[in-house]
Amino acid sequence: MTQTITVIRGDGIGPEIMDATLHVLDAMQLGLQYEEADAGLAALEKHGELLPQATMDSIRKNRVALKSPLTTPVGEGFSSINVELRKRFDLYANVRPAKSFPNTQSRFPSGVDLITVRENTEGAYIGEGQELSADGETAVLTQKVTRRGSERIVRYAFDLARKTGRKKVTVVHKANILKSTSGLFLKTARKVAEEYPEIECDEMIVDACCMKLVMQPEKFDVIVTTNLFGDIISDLCAGLVGGLGLAPGANIGSDAAIFEAVHGTAPDIAGQGKANPCALLLGAAQMLDHLGLPEKAAKLREAIIATLEAKDSLTPDLGGSGDTMSFARAIASRV
Ligand code: ATP
Ligand code: MG
Repeated sequence: MTQTITVIRGDGIGPEIMDATLHVLDAMQLGLQYEEADAGLAALEKHGELLPQATMDSIRKNRVALKSPLTTPVGEGFSSINVELRKRFDLYANVRPAKSFPNTQSRFPSGVDLITVRENTEGAYIGEGQELSADGETAVLTQKVTRRGSERIVRYAFDLARKTGRKKVTVVHKANILKSTSGLFLKTARKVAEEYPEIECDEMIVDACCMKLVMQPEKFDVIVTTNLFGDIISDLCAGLVGGLGLAPGANIGSDAAIFEAVHGTAPDIAGQGKANPCALLLGAAQMLDHLGLPEKAAKLREAIIATLEAKDSLTPDLGGSGDTMSFARAIASRV
């Protein structure tokens, strides 16, 4: 296989965790070709803009990008480059796995293995129609949900469940109160679910869902929900299994997909070799699944788990005395 992916090394700890990730991917001998492209502060310094056309073209051509965290400097036109990328490529599905890993400071060191699929383009989260009255006393916001938007995200979640052999999709909503928007989402989800008779479709109101996630997270498999609920639930789930250093995410559209770590650029530890590369590596595993290489993705995840279990060269955030590259080499030796 020769597949070219766009590689964005990013800012802060970005280049360090990308070096580590590519070291492990190289050890897997997948035949991947990397096309480097700049975005964020690195791009501003090199090319005078945050999101150069060449970067957009590269992602459009390769359709798959692996991206480190980016800094969006204040007053340079965007409030967030990540949000801008999602908009420009219509990356409607935000996919965030949360899995228990051994030897992490987590409340659930075993048993959790769930994926949150969050709608990424509509709902209250996008801030449409925001208004503040002249006297500053009243604020409003429009919340728009469409049948098309709901259908494609729910279909994505069920297809993901089918492809990865998962058994259940939980549709999370608030249709009892938000009858129009959440109601349309739920109604559409029920319709889509009929096409997947082998997968159990569960419905849960968002508040009850949060309680159950904290008490019995092992009961969940795939969660699908609207933008704002998904924003909150996916962070809740990352917290259940040990936080930022181990949380990957994917932003997926019909024409392109971008795989990343959920955490930011961590300027406090940048350039010191302290960054944990696991979140980006797990993002790379999602990318391998997306590229139709599920065995390779599984192999990569197993190597990460085995390295954590052996406490081999772990980074300081995991209580180890290794560094970013020693951790990566330990993982690479197990792939
Ligand atoms: P940004 O402004 O880019 O979001 P931030 O300052 O909010 O950056 P985050 O990257 O979100 O920082 O991280 C918050 C905290 O978690 C920091 O103290 C950081 O050092 C730590 N952290 C984040 N990612 C990692 C990682 N991969 N390995 C180790 N520690 C991390
Ligand atoms: Mg941050």
